[in-house]
Amino acid sequence: MRFRDRIAQFMYRRNGYDAYSLFLLGVSVVLMLLTRLLIWVPVLPAVLQVGSWAALIYCIWRILSKNTYKRQQENARYYELQQAFFRWFRTLKERWQQRKEYKFFRCPSCHVLLRVPRGKGKLQLTCRKCGNRFERRS
Ligand SMILES: [Zn+2]
Repeated sequence: MRFRDRIAQFMYRRNGYDAYSLFLLGVSVVLMLLTRLLIWVPVLPAVLQVGSWAALIYCIWRILSKNTYKRQQENARYYELQQAFFRWFRTLKERWQQRKEYKFFRCPSCHVLLRVPRGKGKLQLTCRKCGNRFERRS
């Protein structure tokens, strides 16, 4: 039997690598690099190294796991969090780009983000989500 076939047979019904495993591998590598960069700091490198190994071992364990249903659920959850992070980052970027023309406020009751033009003095704002009314200086 060829080596490749043996690997294929070994990996049969196992999870294999997915986006979450790749992310864990990335975390492991970054922590490993930080361990080397921060070698002069007391205690921290040891903690980072333990974290790096933990991420790597968890990554390999996930790849070899035969409980594919659970691993796929974890991967789906990872995708959700990744999307939420990208959304948050995009909003931050848009706020930064529009900072000269608009001012941003959070609704005190539902925390939704509101955008108002700058330089209009004191404004009575109405939240478009919950209808809460409050005053802010633009
Ligand atoms: Zn609101």
